[in-house]
Amino acid sequence: MASAGFDAWGVVRAEKLSDAKARFEAWLSDDNAPDLHYLHRNVDKRFDATLLLEGAKSIIVGAVSYKNAFSMGYEADFDARIASYALTNDYHTTLKEMFREVATGLGITDHKSVKICVDSTPLAEKSLARLAGIGWTGRNSLIINPKLGSFINLGALILTDECDTYSAPYEEDGCVGCGRCLLRCPTGAINPTRTINTTLCISNRTVEPSGKLADFDTKGWVFGCDECQSCCPHNATAPLHVNPRFNTLINPLDYDAHFWANISPEEGQAIFGATPLARKFKK
Ligand code: SF4
Ligand code: SF4
Repeated sequence: MASAGFDAWGVVRAEKLSDAKARFEAWLSDDNAPDLHYLHRNVDKRFDATLLLEGAKSIIVGAVSYKNAFSMGYEADFDARIASYALTNDYHTTLKEMFREVATGLGITDHKSVKICVDSTPLAEKSLARLAGIGWTGRNSLIINPKLGSFINLGALILTDECDTYSAPYEEDGCVGCGRCLLRCPTGAINPTRTINTTLCISNRTVEPSGKLADFDTKGWVFGCDECQSCCPHNATAPLHVNPRFNTLINPLDYDAHFWANISPEEGQAIFGATPLARKFKK
């Protein structure tokens, strides 16, 4: 995993995650994601990897840091903020490449015999990351690794092989005595249950096509929002990323609010096509 560029990883059995599924369904029932229809589909698959890959036995969960110079925030008067994960090559593409390298390193030549999951496949990556010992679920809903913080991308490689050993879950809670993210969130989107109300979340509203931005104050964020991470003490001590695949491709300070208000989809794709920002310009 290290040679493929991952910073942290663990292995879990491909078993049904019944408790996590029940929590997720309760979260959906509480109207926390009414417009994110993809979350309401494939709930069974999301919590049972054997429904994503027949004969699945093991799941390798990997994390890689993307923390960069913009992760910890912008000057207060800068009103065209981009979440730091979006300043690099699109993590979906990059992590899939990294997992293909892992599969090849394991001697798997037929990549159709495994399943690589990076965000767009319905799989409960955060639940699996905790079970794989990568970190705990922070009050901001994100997985926090004790060394890397929460500016990490997660993904998973599902295998049909049994592994020699499996990881222990991460049991500590590094949020005890803190609550900065709840105070910092500009819209009150963080629920007491370590989940997010996506209707209130700036990140959701500025990234998802269903975000419907009319009459919603994005507090200076153009795409994504890092507020509940940049305030986190675990991120203050986390090192910057070391994997060069997550070097920044663009400087957000080069683009002001006027630029964002006037850019065409064609220009956006031409300038930002390799980054997650490309999503903003899909027709
Ligand atoms: S991403 Fe921003 S709006 Fe969403 S929960 Fe975090 S601080 Fe709040
Ligand atoms: S800011 Fe504090 S409460 Fe929020 S995720 Fe970080 S450690 Fe946990």
